[in-house]
Amino acid sequence: MNETSYRLSQLEAMNSRLKSDENMYKMILNTSRNALLYHCFPENRTVHLGNWSHFFGSDCSGNTDLHSTLDYIEEDERIRVYDCMVLEKTKKESNIIDFKLKDRNLWVELEVNVIYDDNGEPVEKVLRFKDTTKFKEQNDELAYLAYYDTYTGLYNRNYFIIKLREMMKKAERENCVVSILFIDVDNFRRINDGMGMLMGDELVQQIGERFRDFSSDNILVSHFNSDIFCMAIYDPCGSRSVENVISNLKTKLLDSFILSNGKEVTITVSIGVAEYPECTKDALELINCAEIVMFKAKHSQKNGVQYYDSPIIQEFIDKINIEHKLEKALREQGFFMCYQPQYSTEDKKLRGVEALVRWKDEDGKVISPATFIPVAEKNGSILQLGDWILEKSISDFSKWLNRYHFNDITLAINISALQFKNKDFVKTLVQVLKRYDMPPSMIELEITESVFIDDMNDVIEKMNILKDMGFRFSMDDFGTGFSSLSYLRRLPIDTLKIDKSFIDSVVTDNSTRTIAETIVDMGKKLGFNTIAEGVEEKVQFDILKDIGCDNIQGYYMGKPMVSEKIEELLSGCK
Ligand code: C2E
Ligand code: CA
Ligand code: CA
Repeated sequence: MNETSYRLSQLEAMNSRLKSDENMYKMILNTSRNALLYHCFPENRTVHLGNWSHFFGSDCSGNTDLHSTLDYIEEDERIRVYDCMVLEKTKKESNIIDFKLKDRNLWVELEVNVIYDDNGEPVEKVLRFKDTTKFKEQNDELAYLAYYDTYTGLYNRNYFIIKLREMMKKAERENCVVSILFIDVDNFRRINDGMGMLMGDELVQQIGERFRDFSSDNILVSHFNSDIFCMAIYDPCGSRSVENVISNLKTKLLDSFILSNGKEVTITVSIGVAEYPECTKDALELINCAEIVMFKAKHSQKNGVQYYDSPIIQEFIDKINIEHKLEKALREQGFFMCYQPQYSTEDKKLRGVEALVRWKDEDGKVISPATFIPVAEKNGSILQLGDWILEKSISDFSKWLNRYHFNDITLAINISALQFKNKDFVKTLVQVLKRYDMPPSMIELEITESVFIDDMNDVIEKMNILKDMGFRFSMDDFGTGFSSLSYLRRLPIDTLKIDKSFIDSVVTDNSTRTIAETIVDMGKKLGFNTIAEGVEEKVQFDILKDIGCDNIQGYYMGKPMVSEKIEELLSGCK
């Protein structure tokens, strides 16, 4: 092979390599979601590469005039896009813009790069159109998740706070008021537990739909979580006065909700209202204030609405302080027991003692259980405290029993609903009794009707187990709860404890006397013992004796007393 033909064959080989490389790049570009345009200014040569038809319907090759692509772009975007395409006119080197293609759900990123010579004349230019639709959608979705609640489509808590801060800033400039409505669905847990979480979610979604109608430039509506909604009203007056909005809100909730399982649910809500700047100038604190007063609304009868009121907030702060101190007292044994005697009405013989817990705080002040038991029940520390009470009262009582060998005297112990329902309750109780060698028949467990809320059957089953072991049961505060005769019959109760509120007016009010008499009669018919609590005067005692109440407990016969004092009483009973 001579030199020339050798070179020729080398050139041919190179050519075919180049051709195949070119094909490869073309293929890569054509199948990508990019369209590129290369333009050489001195040669006035334009090359189209990549997937032009993906964006502009045709491959545009041979079309050096970019004007035709503008047909695909929204009219009000055209100038911006065209300016970017002819970037050399501005002498800029690069630019990136985003735009959407007309009639097509396609987002495009256009990047333009221009190279200039030393005189500032454009030499080469590359335009790159990139399909960013997927990215944009993901971004929008992320933004949506960041700002909106997926169940209801309302603002979520974080975004609400951002918008509320903006609203408060505006209110400060314009000297206006912003009102917060903290809205909580009543008994939502029961609905959720009863029908399952899915139906609960569906209900929340439907509530959200009804609340959405309130949303406007001046009213922000949000779903915080679970059954909690929050609204912010800018300059609440006229049709958007707080009263008006609440009234409309309640009207909207009048119609029942139909769920996909065919069930019909009616709901009510409790609302706490707090106002900027009266309460606070801080958005989070403002929401907090509305939340705190909402709790008050839940427990009051005022149509479920409570306006901000500083004593309520103070009460809340006190409660937090109690919670804090309670934890400390639990660690440092700050409690002691008192015992109040119970007597038989007939012969005034001691029939039992009720164990009542006391708390001596750091300053030596004795705090009433009426103050701290509800707090301990709410935060769960009643479990630990309840165990301590069982241990202490049973050990005290067994000591006295061993010393004085009395008969037929019971130790009544108050058991909170949470404590009774705790799965370890029976085990703990039995263990303590064993430790002090006490017969269960000497223990009367005082429970209130609140223990039956939610899971009556489980509670009755547990009561029966304890009853079979020999424990006695007393229904405390009887007459204040949902006391219905039909459910009483199902309970393995020994004693009905008539609430103090009846005893208070048994002398002055005939109808109360009739009720007390009815309770005693009914108790007798059902085979229960009766005891009246809070008997302070002889006249009360006489009436109770007259109507046949078996036992009494109260200041008239004996106040709650410390161990040494009750021991003196017990020492006289054989
Ligand atoms: P309760 O079980 O209804 O207890 C009776 C309350 O009435 C006691 O208040 C007692 O001191 C008071 N009392 C008794 N007789 C009279 C009277 O003649 N006049 C007046 N004005 N009051 C009388 P206390 O000891 O302050 O207890 C309040 C509540 O705290 C109790 O109500 C009970 O619900 C709860 N509690 C007390 N000790 C315990 C406990 O050891 N465990 C649990 N779980 N709760 C307890
Ligand atoms: Ca009691
Ligand atoms: Ca009571």
